[in-house]
Amino acid sequence: MRSKIVAGNWKMNKNLAETEALLAELSAKLPDTSAEVMVAPTYINLTSAVRHLESSAIEVIAQNMHFAESGAYTGEISADMLLNVGINTAIIGHSERRAYFGETDEILAKKVTTALSKGIRVMFCFGEELADRKSDNHFKVVESQLKNALFALDASSWSKIVLAYEPVWAIGTGETASPEQAQEMHAFIRKTITEAYDASIANDVSILYGGSVKPANAEEIFSKPDVDGGLIGGASLVADDFVAIIKAI
Ligand code: PEP
Repeated sequence: MRSKIVAGNWKMNKNLAETEALLAELSAKLPDTSAEVMVAPTYINLTSAVRHLESSAIEVIAQNMHFAESGAYTGEISADMLLNVGINTAIIGHSERRAYFGETDEILAKKVTTALSKGIRVMFCFGEELADRKSDNHFKVVESQLKNALFALDASSWSKIVLAYEPVWAIGTGETASPEQAQEMHAFIRKTITEAYDASIANDVSILYGGSVKPANAEEIFSKPDVDGGLIGGASLVADDFVAIIKAI
């Protein structure tokens, strides 16, 4: 079911003490909201974060997971390991994973399949690079990212998927897609899903925008009809900023 979501991707930031301090501040300042609020600390702090937020409405999610059940994959984390420490949602396909760790559409399709088979909700990230937008290829790129990683799924899988459209040129750059650009792409994504599946799946999926969302621009971006919230990087590391973004939804 489509819901409003604000998720913080902490990336490779915050040690254990800093993680606990930020979680404590967020819990204390969390506004009353019907939106789902999520944070994705680094792997090593997930267990502590889950314990810390036991009686909180904030969900702890993972930044990544491997597609294999278990085995010789040094440095990787499996779906079962996440479930075992109380994590039920994983970000898959973040542009930094694609750019720095060689994650292709094919690998991402495997990760999505594994996550769903284990009952893990997938927050699937995708988005075009600056060159794609400049050459007017952004719709084509986004369509192929969705098709290659998600469109082999059966219709029932979509209830466990959240989409996060993140134009690469807007991530961590301070440059944001305009609310109109975000709306245009989100509407295109729903149209593409309608064509591949049907309108009810397209209308039920939550589509988040990510890319330099800040307290100053969140409200306008979130006001667009096809934008159901945000995946927030830098601004989620500062409790007051993240809280202001939650309030904006
Ligand atoms: C992200 O990494 O998902 C992201 C949106 O980062 P930022 O908000 O810092 O652009």
